[in-house]
Amino acid sequence: MPPFPFEPPFGDAPDDETSAKKIAPLKPATGRCLCGKVRFEIDFPAFWAWHDHTKASRRAHGAAYATYVGVWKKRFRLLKGEALIARFEDKTNGSVRNFCSACGTPLYYERARSKHMINIPRALFESRTGRQPIYHIGIEELQEWAYTGEPLVPLKGFPGVVWNRSSKKRRVDDDPFAVMSGRKNKRSGGEGTQTEEPGTTSPIGRGRRAKRGG
Ligand SMILES: [Zn+2]
Repeated sequence: MPPFPFEPPFGDAPDDETSAKKIAPLKPATGRCLCGKVRFEIDFPAFWAWHDHTKASRRAHGAAYATYVGVWKKRFRLLKGEALIARFEDKTNGSVRNFCSACGTPLYYERARSKHMINIPRALFESRTGRQPIYHIGIEELQEWAYTGEPLVPLKGFPGVVWNRSSKKRRVDDDPFAVMSGRKNKRSGGEGTQTEEPGTTSPIGRGRRAKRGG
């Protein structure tokens, strides 16, 4: 992966999240960890936002990728819970990741090469940040199991569960719900190559297509 820019290169990221820009002044955007013992705020709007697909961020979040909002440090304020914050310094690149020691939530992340910026998981914010995550870091590391907006349909018999019925990679043998629901495995049932889900024709996915790396 190429080195990360010293400072975010995109000084005028589109402000699509809000049309309220004209109605100044705007309140700070507030955020919190899962347990709520750590709270913070940033001045609105944030500087930029992006999806980070790199291995370190995936592991730190335990997720397919992490989405960050970047702000100038001087525009970030810790409101509560400072004593609970644990730090992890990644010696491979000098970055420091901060976590809530009570609940484990990743809080904010500082890069050695970008000393004036602080990067905060977008998911922690309780309101708009003023920036859409239209940029990607490490897209070549996008995991093949990451959800990228494929159309989804309801899974019959399991309210609240939807699935990507059309995935060419899926094998019926890989479908645990087929076993739980007693649906016939068509390989053994001799009826074809895929299970059928009558009445599940309304796609609820956005149909967005994303370029897959590697
Ligand atoms: Zn917490």
